[in-house]
Amino acid sequence: MDFLRPASWEEALAAKAEHPAAVPIAGGTDVMVEINFDHRRPEHLMDLNRIGDLEEWEVGEDSVRLGASVPYSRIMEHLRTELPGLALAAHTVASPQIRNRGGVGGNLGTSSPAGDAHPALLAAGAEVEAESVRGSRRIPIDAFYTGVKRNALAPDELIRAVHIEKAGGPQQYSKVGTRNAMVIAVCAFGLALHPETRTVRTGIGSAAPTPVRARTAEEFLEAALEEGGFWDNGKIITPSLAGRFADLCAAACSPIDDVRGTAGYRRHAVGVMARRTLTWTWESYRGARRTTEGAA
Ligand SMILES: Cc1cc2nc3c(=O)[nH]c(=O)nc-3n(C[C@H](O)[C@H](O)[C@H](O)COP(=O)(O)OP(=O)(O)OC[C@H]3O[C@@H](n4cnc5c(N)ncnc54)[C@H](O)[C@@H]3O)c2cc1C
Repeated sequence: MDFLRPASWEEALAAKAEHPAAVPIAGGTDVMVEINFDHRRPEHLMDLNRIGDLEEWEVGEDSVRLGASVPYSRIMEHLRTELPGLALAAHTVASPQIRNRGGVGGNLGTSSPAGDAHPALLAAGAEVEAESVRGSRRIPIDAFYTGVKRNALAPDELIRAVHIEKAGGPQQYSKVGTRNAMVIAVCAFGLALHPETRTVRTGIGSAAPTPVRARTAEEFLEAALEEGGFWDNGKIITPSLAGRFADLCAAACSPIDDVRGTAGYRRHAVGVMARRTLTWTWESYRGARRTTEGAA
């Protein structure tokens, strides 16, 4: 196995163009497991750790440009306000040691349906900045996941960064597992309210071949909130509305039975998480409205 160590992004792109099958390694928390268990024996391993830019982030007016290798612990520490859903998701990943190494670029590279970043990225609205010697492009997160552990990257492309909309409203992330730490999701759910556009976005993990959005549920909730004047009057969400949203989220899943849980349990749990996260985010929205009105 040859170990490539590009010193710059340009060198990394050139190396990937020359060896499209080379496996990039960032934190190594997925790659090294696969190599140690002999599930993968690449001819070339390409270390991205000398490329400092990949561990940096920029907070813009509307969005955050998150370098592909920014570790989860940094997201939790520095981007909790701008990216609350992703910070909450990061909090549920593994252990402090893994969170100090692993990042969103690696989660996207692996594209496991159980990866914790995915529901948060889907709910917030993100674009993956992919680059090769041929040029750079932005892949909308909805189009990124193409199958079980498959994604839209071309063989010569690398992920440089992820662009994520700054939260304009409350966001939540919920994960079901056998315990609180060091656990792969049985299933997970992300929800983001976008009051400025009066929209809601969801993300479901580990309950379909790829991470997915519950689009029918989103459309239902947006229409109900609009018709009921909820955004303006800050009314409490009724149990029937939350229940219907939960049912539609559960219906958006196409889970399987596996060692972590049955399909039926996953569908049920997604419904429960959808109802809870809707209640939590809506209560935050109402609280923020009351604070704003009180200050006026
Ligand atoms: C004990 C343990 C517990 C874990 N628990 C969780 C958990 O709770 N939730 C969770 O989501 N994950 C978990 N993981 C998996 C892993 O930590 C995450 O998927 C993490 O985000 C991977 O990031 P990394 O930087 O370590 O990726 P790496 O292992 O370096 O890479 C992962 C994949 O992405 C590719 N890649 C990396 N960077 C790039 C890039 N810039 N461009 C293109 N491809 C790239 C690699 O080639 C590889 O295919 C766990 C892993 C371990 C070992």
